[in-house]
Amino acid sequence: MLSFLKKRKGKPVVYKRPEHCISRKNIDPDALRVLYRLMHLGYTAYLVGGGVRDLLLGRKPKDFDVGTSARPSEVKRAFRNCFLVGRRFRLAHIRFGDKVIETATFRQESQSIGEILENASRGPQEDNNFGTPETDAYRRDFTVNGLFYNIKDFSVIDWVGGMKDLEKKVIRAIGDPDIRFQEDPVRMMRAIKFSSRLEFRIERKTLAAIKRRHECIKTASTPRVCEEIFRLFSFSKSAQAFKMMWECGLTRDLLPELADAIDATGGAKSLAWRYLEVLDEFDAKMSEIGIDVSNAIRAAVLMTPLLKAQHENGGAVGRKAMGIMLRSLKIPKAVYFTSSLLMESPRRLSVSPVKGKTRFVYNRDFLDALDYNRIILRAEGKSEKALDEWADIYDNSFAKSPSDETAEG
Ligand code: ATP
Ligand code: MG
Repeated sequence: MLSFLKKRKGKPVVYKRPEHCISRKNIDPDALRVLYRLMHLGYTAYLVGGGVRDLLLGRKPKDFDVGTSARPSEVKRAFRNCFLVGRRFRLAHIRFGDKVIETATFRQESQSIGEILENASRGPQEDNNFGTPETDAYRRDFTVNGLFYNIKDFSVIDWVGGMKDLEKKVIRAIGDPDIRFQEDPVRMMRAIKFSSRLEFRIERKTLAAIKRRHECIKTASTPRVCEEIFRLFSFSKSAQAFKMMWECGLTRDLLPELADAIDATGGAKSLAWRYLEVLDEFDAKMSEIGIDVSNAIRAAVLMTPLLKAQHENGGAVGRKAMGIMLRSLKIPKAVYFTSSLLMESPRRLSVSPVKGKTRFVYNRDFLDALDYNRIILRAEGKSEKALDEWADIYDNSFAKSPSDETAEG
């Protein structure tokens, strides 16, 4: 840690307005309101994090976060629609309808492990690790996530070399990657998420550190890991993401049975990757019409190599496979039940429907089962004829369902 603190030059590179592509037109008007209000009250106010990165890449940011010199209580006083959240960091959430502009006071690098344990034993208290824009940039995870957009003069402030890495399309840890990954192992999964989503490569030393430190992911909090696992599916890039997870050893740490199944079905050539590719194609089509693929389908597709590796035909194969995710990642129970059903549905849907034995179409999860089976069959290059027949039965059943009759009558 000290070595990289010493290397700091104490001055950021500042890119003036003509030297970058961020236009206020592309910034959420409510985020602009927050920035301007803080600035007029005399505080420093920057757009920070993923929002700045995405704007510089010409992508639409998912959310806009603000960093400021104002303390949480001062932010609260400045906005009627502001709520302080979080036990330790007291983030300010400024609400505009359903939208939240997360506003955080500049922070310092987190405390040493000793200090964290000591503070934890004293119970919840206000964290006073407030810092400067410089310390706030250095505590962030990757250089491309450490850029600031200054509302005062519309410049981009770069303490960490993020602009060059954006140009080079590189995910690089800020500081010593070994230390940063030990501090917070979830950062390894975040590196993989950003790399697959943005199609950036992971810088050599950062990647080597993930390959060295992957095992410490076992010490991360399960809910955070579970959340990151499902985030790897978003942006229709799950095949790349999970292949990297496997190559780095993270899959073996988190889901050893899945790693075994991937190895048993061909490793780098396993159908596992093809299943995820077809899921990604399906996900891309669905997001065009504004629909998210369910986490149940995602989890079932991910775990399908277990079925192929075991060649088991018992009734509880799906439940067994999903039981692994339930135990290792504590996935929600609802996802567990639906995914189990999906993984067992090929037994029914791989054969043409027989008259009088089609009640499955009334199952709440029938449409998910249809999608799951299509993904698997397509990946395996098999006929989807039986599925089409099931889809017809479904359409016909609902065309003359009792509710339709009463609606018409
Ligand atoms: P997304 O588009 O997925 O929201 P993001 O970069 O905004 O990507 P967030 O998880 O929303 O990611 O976090 C916002 C910012 O907070 C990041 O850009 C990064 O600067 C910082 N950050 C988040 N998680 C960590 C972490 N584990 N360690 C260090 N910095 C982090
Ligand atoms: Mg974000």
